[in-house]
Amino acid sequence: MKIYTVGGYEEIGKNMTAVEIDNDVFIFDMGIKLDRVMIHEDTNLQDMSPQRLKKLGAIPDDSILTGKKVRAIILSHGHLDHIGAIPKMAYNYKCPIIGTKYTISLVSSLINEEPFSECSNQLIAVNKKIEIGNYEIEFINSTHSIPETKFTALHSKEGTVLYTGDFKLDMHPTIGERPDFERLKKLNPKVMITDSTRAPEETKTPSEKIAVIMLQDFLLDNYDEKKGIVTTTFASHIARIKTLLETADRMERIPILLGRSLCKYYGTALKLDIVKKGVKMVKRRSSIDKKLKEINKKKEKYLVITTGSQGEKGAVLSRMANKETPLRLDKKDTVLFSTSTIPHPINIANRYKLETKLKMQKVRIIKNVHVSGHASKEDLREFLRIVNPENIIPTHGEYTMLASWAELGEEEGYAIEKNIFIRRNGQKVLIGD
Ligand SMILES: [Zn+2]
Repeated sequence: MKIYTVGGYEEIGKNMTAVEIDNDVFIFDMGIKLDRVMIHEDTNLQDMSPQRLKKLGAIPDDSILTGKKVRAIILSHGHLDHIGAIPKMAYNYKCPIIGTKYTISLVSSLINEEPFSECSNQLIAVNKKIEIGNYEIEFINSTHSIPETKFTALHSKEGTVLYTGDFKLDMHPTIGERPDFERLKKLNPKVMITDSTRAPEETKTPSEKIAVIMLQDFLLDNYDEKKGIVTTTFASHIARIKTLLETADRMERIPILLGRSLCKYYGTALKLDIVKKGVKMVKRRSSIDKKLKEINKKKEKYLVITTGSQGEKGAVLSRMANKETPLRLDKKDTVLFSTSTIPHPINIANRYKLETKLKMQKVRIIKNVHVSGHASKEDLREFLRIVNPENIIPTHGEYTMLASWAELGEEEGYAIEKNIFIRRNGQKVLIGD
């Protein structure tokens, strides 16, 4: 068995790993690293060729897989750093793309949004299991920060490969079920390829239920007069949006979703019955401005939920801060960030600009009303003890994150280069004889 560490082994972004057994190759995830495009001015992702994107390091360099027989592309969840490169490169592989309904739905709209995509791979939505020749692919319940995230297992005669994808161990998820610990205990994988993002954090990641309490703690207190409240979160964080909508009801305010990506992710979740609660959604810039004009007259009646939590240029929140919309914010108004700042210099700079502009208008800012979607060191330790894999390959992180996982592995009796392996992009690991 060979594991190719194609992308996501030097960074957070462009995740892609391939497993080869008997000349059959299975690819796990095919993501994009957006900041590699953002650092260049005047670039439009859709106009860029796959060759150029590979050169920039925005999509994985898959040359190590040239000429190989790929049987399937398996997707763990719908975040762009796991599915974003599909329209750019999946057509090179004549094989189906397999994921849960929500993930496949997002992939389908990504392909449709790409004007010249040649991607015509069959898209297969799977809930639990699918057979491909002599192999079985199993989707096991997980928890993260987007609906229908799964641990994916490839069962073969050479043993099972567990690709965890991004995950946390949430015992109180607000959408979906807990991780399927019973199934994980019985898996006995030959190899576990695992999320490292928060491996250096010596703690346990709190449940999404804690984010509910944090949000309500601020939004439902009434010892101070609140007028306008603008909230922002990651567009794909459906559980968080659900909490904001439910809290708006308790505040007797009208919730409203502003921005294209929020509407896309929430609209898809509604369509697939992942959430039940309808809400007014406004996508287009002209309609958003019309709605904000209305809101500006009675700010205390609404709970605005908007895009732009990272200070992205052109997002609704950035436009508000620039006074480019009819909504005027002042010292009675609050902007609440139900996110962390993704620790990248571009995001940090954008957030600094956004926050400074808001402060100049005397707006109250409430930051970091958020819990992470990634397991921390002590969750990973529990997970390791439950799954008990023969070999470990940390992925989804910079070198220090992969190394932290390796140290944890050592603490639990594994040894580097014997049964825990650190690799860079474009390398491989040989398992077995
Ligand atoms: Zn993710």
